Amino acid sequence: MPVRPEYTPADAVATDRRAAGSMVAAIAFATLTLILLAVPASAQTPLAITIDDVPWNGVEPLDGAAGGTDRLLATLMERGIQATGFVVCNRMEDGAPIVRAWLAAGMEIGNHSAAHRDLNSGMQPWLDEARRCESQLASITGKRGGFFRFPYLHQGPTAAIRDEVADALAGMSYRTAHVTIDNSEWILARAYGRALQAADERTSEEIGSAYVAHMLDAARHFRRVAREKFGRNVAQVLLVHANALNADWLGEVLDSLTAEDFTFVSLEVALRDPVFLLPDAYVGRRGLSWLYRAAPLSQPDPWDEAAEDALVRRFGE
Ligand SMILES: [Zn+2]
Repeated sequence: MPVRPEYTPADAVATDRRAAGSMVAAIAFATLTLILLAVPASAQTPLAITIDDVPWNGVEPLDGAAGGTDRLLATLMERGIQATGFVVCNRMEDGAPIVRAWLAAGMEIGNHSAAHRDLNSGMQPWLDEARRCESQLASITGKRGGFFRFPYLHQGPTAAIRDEVADALAGMSYRTAHVTIDNSEWILARAYGRALQAADERTSEEIGSAYVAHMLDAARHFRRVAREKFGRNVAQVLLVHANALNADWLGEVLDSLTAEDFTFVSLEVALRDPVFLLPDAYVGRRGLSWLYRAAPLSQPDPWDEAAEDALVRRFGE
């Protein structure tokens, strides 16, 4: 049906005067107006926050990993967000106090393998690690299975490995914690760690502001990708890490996403979106947004490469 973007109330009045059955036209116009008014509410994008490499990744802040974790968790709780933290089990301290702090704060905990092994480097030792981490986490949470996050988002370099691993994880009662908003936070997190070690406050501040801008950009980008590929606003899943950058700056990132009409939901709720039930159509060695696994690209995403290059040029690798 052709669309008339220039259609205005004045047109409707003019049509009314000419046409018979002007009441019908007026009612149709009123209905159209109501539909248009309803659009902003449905433009909200559900967003789940997932935080990898718990207990901690990289340089510790002055208050240590425990203090940084407390600040990170407070940031989430103040905003009523239930995030999911993905644990690298070999990095847990004796008695797992940080993982327990996550649980005490009402957050969800998932498996991110025992030693953050890359599935591209071989399947059997990788599966052993996933199992080892599963039983360690079960002894802390009292629950089996749950969510699994692939290290580097590498899901298997061949179709045979990808499918065998998917079956093995399902056998452990795991669901894959897909990511849609993939981003270059890790580049900024490294630079932030270096600035912290050098006690360079000016650079830390610059990196923090660049981080907020980058994450907003990434979120907008993947919302656009969803609309282009699937014709609608899908639920999104953001990936960041348990690090000093987020202990200091995640709150600002979350507030800027709220201002951009993202609304926070748990991972459980986000993964109910039918986009996550689509078959995995990607086979290869890359770590990708689920939007690119469900609807693969013929070329790497130019946005992703440009954003990464710009950050590396500005803050180093
Ligand atoms: Zn990781």
